[in-house]
Amino acid sequence: MNGGELNVLMVASEGAPFAKTGGLADVVGALPEALHALGHDIRVMLPYYRMVSTNLRDLGLELERQDEIEVPIGGKPVQGTIYRGTFPDTSIPTYFVAVDRYYDRDELYGEGKDNYPDNLERFVFLDRAALGLVDRLDWVPDVIHCHDWQTALIPVYLKTHYRNDSRWSRVATLYTIHNLAYQGTFDATEANARIIDLDPVPEALLMTMNSEMEERINLMAGGIRYVDLLNTVSERYSREIQTKEYGAGLHEMLAGRADDLYGVLNGVDYDIWNPATDPLIPTHYDRDRLEGKRENKRQLQRENRLVEDPGIPLIGAISRLAGQKGFDLVVDAIDEIVDLGAQFVLLGTGDSNLHRAFEKIADRHVGAVGINLEYNERKAHEIEAGSDMFLMPSRYEPCGLNQMYSLRYGTVPIVRATGGLDDTIQNYDPATGVGNGFKFHKYTKEALLDAVRWALEVYRSQEQETWRKLMIRGMEADHSWSASAGRYVALYERAIAKLKQGEGVPT
Ligand code: ADP
Repeated sequence: MNGGELNVLMVASEGAPFAKTGGLADVVGALPEALHALGHDIRVMLPYYRMVSTNLRDLGLELERQDEIEVPIGGKPVQGTIYRGTFPDTSIPTYFVAVDRYYDRDELYGEGKDNYPDNLERFVFLDRAALGLVDRLDWVPDVIHCHDWQTALIPVYLKTHYRNDSRWSRVATLYTIHNLAYQGTFDATEANARIIDLDPVPEALLMTMNSEMEERINLMAGGIRYVDLLNTVSERYSREIQTKEYGAGLHEMLAGRADDLYGVLNGVDYDIWNPATDPLIPTHYDRDRLEGKRENKRQLQRENRLVEDPGIPLIGAISRLAGQKGFDLVVDAIDEIVDLGAQFVLLGTGDSNLHRAFEKIADRHVGAVGINLEYNERKAHEIEAGSDMFLMPSRYEPCGLNQMYSLRYGTVPIVRATGGLDDTIQNYDPATGVGNGFKFHKYTKEALLDAVRWALEVYRSQEQETWRKLMIRGMEADHSWSASAGRYVALYERAIAKLKQGEGVPT
């Protein structure tokens, strides 16, 4: 390819600002523009969820009807409509596939604790519709970039169904794993096998068992096995998932593809996360106007009914409250954190046991702890701007975005050394003054408390300069998408080269 312009189709189950439940949407929302800026023809395909139509209305965007599409699901044809629009303020084509009975629902993947029972059908449809779309366009992708389990079947179809079809023989695939914990597993019933429409179901998709040792169809395993090249969203996580501890049952399969497995850190969208321009925070600031941060802190203390004292260190946290994120450690450690003289503000939703535990903590520590059990974009920005430190005690973390937002907001991260947190945060070293945050290694309350104690000590040290320098070092770091987009282009080129050399996956 030698740096020539690439045609890339990105297929995903969510993308900001159209539909978002987590970090995947941030990536699909920002990476295309960064790739476009590098001169590539990038197009995106997403399901047309109810959330998409709401967001389009709010954004004042309209779509054009592009085509009708028909996909066989379980032996019966299912009709869909493809609409075409663009990302806001760009010319990047975005295709939305609409099937009301699949996507016109309140949520993306399920409601409450329950996944939608027809998720297999819904995402088989998306994957086959993506291939159907390419068939109809006067445009051939060099690469199809797939994300997570929902689009894992695309490489599987290309390497099985379409294996001998010359139209597809030069289309390479890249598969990005954002979180290995969600693999898309389904009962290996005949009905489900008919939905996938692969006869026989390839062995790689059947390697996962349930507790009764019955076979499960595992879509992510299929993606890992059949894609030309794969990556995770940090270097460290790409190594971790090859171990039993982090591999969620797929470590051997991943280790088997170690030569094809890369790590590319997610970037930050500084149009959205920049304290000098952020419309969601009370007072703007930057490295030369740090007084503004004090004002944000005062407001945050006030909103959370904390003691309004600029001298009291304030630790913030924003997270899904899921086992992965390590907030059970915070529940155990909070009394001691408060005893150390710190304040704590949490924004998060998720696990109902954690909700209950944090409600009790809020009652116990009025004036020192603020608990916000909700999803709230504005509060997320206010916490980044108003906190002195930001806590991420994750059990595992494929990349993590909030530690990078924190750096830009001069909010010093305290993180567990795992995945992308380990790759982006360097421990503060008092001897050399190097580092941008505080890290702990063991997944224990004691280790977390040691890191908090240490951060508080540096914060309170007589040399105010030390903390200011730490803040400024973080604020000056560049975690924008441009570097990561360049790395994705290198992966696209490598995937194409592999396919050309016939080094692709043995079938
Ligand atoms: P994950 O995708 O595992 O949830 P990431 O750190 O990659 O974690 O991305 C999470 C994104 O969701 C961040 O932009 C974070 O600020 C945002 N977020 C998480 N919980 C909340 C919440 N309760 N309110 C507002 N934003 C939230």
